[in-house]
Amino acid sequence: MERNCGECTACCKTHGVLEILKMSGKWCIYCNVGQGCGIYAKRPRECRVFKCAWLFGIDGSGPQHRPDKINIVPEYRKISGIGMAMWFWELEEGALRSDLTRKWSRRNLLLGNCVMHVSLDAGHKLYLPERIGDLDRSYVFGSPEEEIEIVPFPESVSCFA
Ligand code: SF4
Ligand code: SF4
Repeated sequence: MERNCGECTACCKTHGVLEILKMSGKWCIYCNVGQGCGIYAKRPRECRVFKCAWLFGIDGSGPQHRPDKINIVPEYRKISGIGMAMWFWELEEGALRSDLTRKWSRRNLLLGNCVMHVSLDAGHKLYLPERIGDLDRSYVFGSPEEEIEIVPFPESVSCFA
């Protein structure tokens, strides 16, 4: 059965929207939290096309796992040079440490996907699966200074044991 967003507005906080200069991790000024977009008919293209992984039915999830209910927005997104990654965007502080996020993170790593955690207070952390060897971070991220902590395999999986 096809899923829809319903009253969820979680990605209106977690994600940045370039077209309206909205930063990630802050509520959009147009968002009626828990209701919907205040400019729905005129919302930016980035908002129109975005679909979180819950809408695709991530990992046996059910209605109780809708992003606003678990405080995490999961997203499938490729990272240049290293392929498919599962991103977990934190809606409320601490949600990245939940049992569910840990379970989904571990499972994706064992499937060979990279896992990115986007924390509200501690930046980005990229966990690498076994298939990734050395990582040329300047090639992948454009800037060696970019604040992304990289956790290599097998420490990555151990973090979620
Ligand atoms: S997080 Fe997912 S379910 Fe929630 S509003 Fe965004 S796309 Fe819809
Ligand atoms: S413009 Fe609308 S859909 Fe886009 S982030 Fe803001 S409230 Fe959400």
